[in-house]
Amino acid sequence: MSCQENSSHVRVSRFAHLFVNVTAVAAVACALAGIGPLGWAQEIEPGPPPNLASDRHSDTKIAEAIRQVSADHIRQTIEKLVSFNNRSTLSAQDEDSIKAGRGIGAVREWIKAEFERYSKDCGGCLEVKTDAFTEQPAERIPKPTEITNVYAVLKGVDPKQAERIVLVTGHYDSRNAENSNITDPAPGANDDASGTAVSLECARVLSKSRFPATIIFLAVAGEEQGLNGSKHFAQMAKQQGWNLEAVLNDDIVGGDLGPGQDAGVVRVFSEGLPTAATDAEIRRIRMLGGESDSKSRELARYIADVGRSYDTGVKPLLIFRLDRFLRGGDHYSFNQQGFSAVRFTDYREDYNHQHQNVRTENGIEYGDLPKFVDFDYVARVARLNAAALASLATAPAAPASVKMVTKELDNNTTLTWEASVGAAAYEVLWRSTSAPDWEYVQTIGTGTRATLKVSKDNVIFAVRAVDAAGHRSLPVVPEPER
Ligand SMILES: [Zn+2]
Repeated sequence: MSCQENSSHVRVSRFAHLFVNVTAVAAVACALAGIGPLGWAQEIEPGPPPNLASDRHSDTKIAEAIRQVSADHIRQTIEKLVSFNNRSTLSAQDEDSIKAGRGIGAVREWIKAEFERYSKDCGGCLEVKTDAFTEQPAERIPKPTEITNVYAVLKGVDPKQAERIVLVTGHYDSRNAENSNITDPAPGANDDASGTAVSLECARVLSKSRFPATIIFLAVAGEEQGLNGSKHFAQMAKQQGWNLEAVLNDDIVGGDLGPGQDAGVVRVFSEGLPTAATDAEIRRIRMLGGESDSKSRELARYIADVGRSYDTGVKPLLIFRLDRFLRGGDHYSFNQQGFSAVRFTDYREDYNHQHQNVRTENGIEYGDLPKFVDFDYVARVARLNAAALASLATAPAAPASVKMVTKELDNNTTLTWEASVGAAAYEVLWRSTSAPDWEYVQTIGTGTRATLKVSKDNVIFAVRAVDAAGHRSLPVVPEPER
């Protein structure tokens, strides 16, 4: 084996602070010779990290797909949803009302028809489904009420990867100032026709391509009554053992045109301590300093990486918090079931335009009207969502059983993991314990074990899988193993 045989050896031996099992033989041999494979001098002590984790890596096919997102089409979707007047989950859903285009039943049927229309355009590539159930009376549900989630499945084309699922969702129900008011306007243009439009637009655009893993485009109801639709859906996913890797919840992504808005930024909320963590898991998180490394937080960092890699026009601003004060959202339903889920929301909200009766008082306009929505902004957020979904659905599965060897006191760090389907290489990421996002990345060839001359006491590590074209999986933080 010569020093030139494998490019990963080259990188390894250039930065001699890293050794890899299989590649290590060649790499160490080259290092011992004192001259690197391409003539670089070897560094015995930890040298500068080989790559910054913030480097861009994009795929031209994904870049092309997200260019198809249309602000005009999004505007049409939002205006159509608003045209139903009031989309309260408590509103009518009998046959006559549906025929007359009134009430939540008519909205649900329109969304279904829209998904079916996209499916027709892609040769039937989408499976359009509903998840309907009867919710029993609760604080904001006066009588037994049928709630229907509508979704479209773009099945993965790789039999080995199709079980992996990524999902985008928005809630199609709306409300005005009164929970029980099902007749006066509740336009909900921003909250959350905008998020529903993102889910639909991702379906329209991404259904023109095929991906190894499965993508689900979801629109839920009952959000305003207590996240009822998403709760039922997430429980179904859990009970049926879905391999649901990521949930993107878009709720209030209309880029409200009020003062203080930043149309170049979208907030991405993610939980720190996992909602579903057991007491034992919380104890371990405390011991390891893992408070900022929930699976949802890694998903948020992944989205930040996608935001750097593609020209979406909007920058994800990671908020290390489950949600805003006094508010909740459908991502929480998925977090409760142990799934990774984040929330996208405008940089700045205008509360005069949320859950308000439409009116003008003292010259101030109240109500969640389409005229306050920035359709170009929604399109940017849709591009970011679509790029994240496409990246995740194209990438290999994240490595499983990622462990950090802690058998003895050691200033180096050894990581092990299981091979991922579709992986051509692995990367170890790390960051200072006080840094918000990954700082450094080291490529590790095809091996499933690496030793780095970086102390595990001082940084947080993760491992991700990379395919031959450079698509990255979600990173996985190792569990200590004695
Ligand atoms: Zn909402």
